[in-house]
Amino acid sequence: MTGAGPGPTDAEWAAAVEAVRGLPADARVLLICHVNPDGDALGSMLGFGLGLRRLGVRHLQATFPGPPGVPEPFRWLPGVELLVPQDDADPDPDLVICFDAAGDSRLGDLVDRLGRAGTSLVLDHHASNTGFGRINLVDPHAAATSVVALGLLDRLGVPLDAEMATGLYVALTTDTGSFRFEATTPAVHEMAARLLATGIRPGDISRRIFDTRPFGAVRLFGEVLGRATLEPAAAAGHGLVWTYATHDDLARHDQPAYVLEALIDSVRCTAEADVSCVVKQSGDAEWAVSLRSKGAVDVSRVAVALGGGGHRFAAGFTGRGPLDEVVGNIRAALGAEVLVPHS
Ligand code: AMP
Ligand code: MN
Ligand code: MN
Repeated sequence: MTGAGPGPTDAEWAAAVEAVRGLPADARVLLICHVNPDGDALGSMLGFGLGLRRLGVRHLQATFPGPPGVPEPFRWLPGVELLVPQDDADPDPDLVICFDAAGDSRLGDLVDRLGRAGTSLVLDHHASNTGFGRINLVDPHAAATSVVALGLLDRLGVPLDAEMATGLYVALTTDTGSFRFEATTPAVHEMAARLLATGIRPGDISRRIFDTRPFGAVRLFGEVLGRATLEPAAAAGHGLVWTYATHDDLARHDQPAYVLEALIDSVRCTAEADVSCVVKQSGDAEWAVSLRSKGAVDVSRVAVALGGGGHRFAAGFTGRGPLDEVVGNIRAALGAEVLVPHS
């Protein structure tokens, strides 16, 4: 995230506050987060949504593109009652607010709501954010989108409560890897302290979000990790470790696709590789690719080169074609200029 621009200007914050405060009492507000929502996308959106409720916004919906099922680990989140399937989302709301999406391509079929809404507000922390909203609150130095969301709630004068704090905390712990990543600044811990002071229970939350999975998923992970491949010469000798999972793997273990989101955390432990990768089948010849780096390689450059995006050390893209080709493209992209310069 170094080299990223500054956070939102005072004028941008003021415009965002005005966009919310200036809404008429019967205004319709639609919240959208990115496809395949993670803890930051859902947690920021629902935490913020509950804040809007506290402000008296009555016609409020939250949604995300794709199949409407909320991954089991997030189904208990306060505010899930705001969620509607994308097909039921207001076609022309007065205000659309987007969460954790670096570009409008992450909004799938919901992208049309941006054009039809009275106005649009983007809350995000990706350095690669394209500024696709009418008003953009993008802070590349924020550890999670929930940092930006809380910044706006504070400016709107919404008092923090435990329900709002739960989503915002889930978002913060997700994107900092439970306060392990470099993004874990003093400001992150200060925000966590504020959230915890509302009385939320971090042990319960972490167990539900990170440390619970069905036995079938444990077996599936065993199989998929068992076929991981280490390529020490890749990425100019920094090493690549990768594995893949197909729809057939999921079906054999009777598991939904979202269980694979946690897989990258086991793969990236590999000491011999700076870059780790999980290729997850998402269609007939379509793959959702997760990339991670320990610091030598800027994987966002790899992802952008292959049509995706993300952060320096955590990025992704959608691969098309046979598995071999997708992995070959990653290998090739890792051979290009993607090393992080020495500072
Ligand atoms: P994931 O591996 O899915 O956890 O994603 C890691 C990071 O890469 C996140 O910050 C995402 O925003 C970004 N990312 C993942 N997939 C894509 C994609 N298809 N297009 C753009 N950014 C992506
Ligand atoms: Mn996200
Ligand atoms: Mn995020």
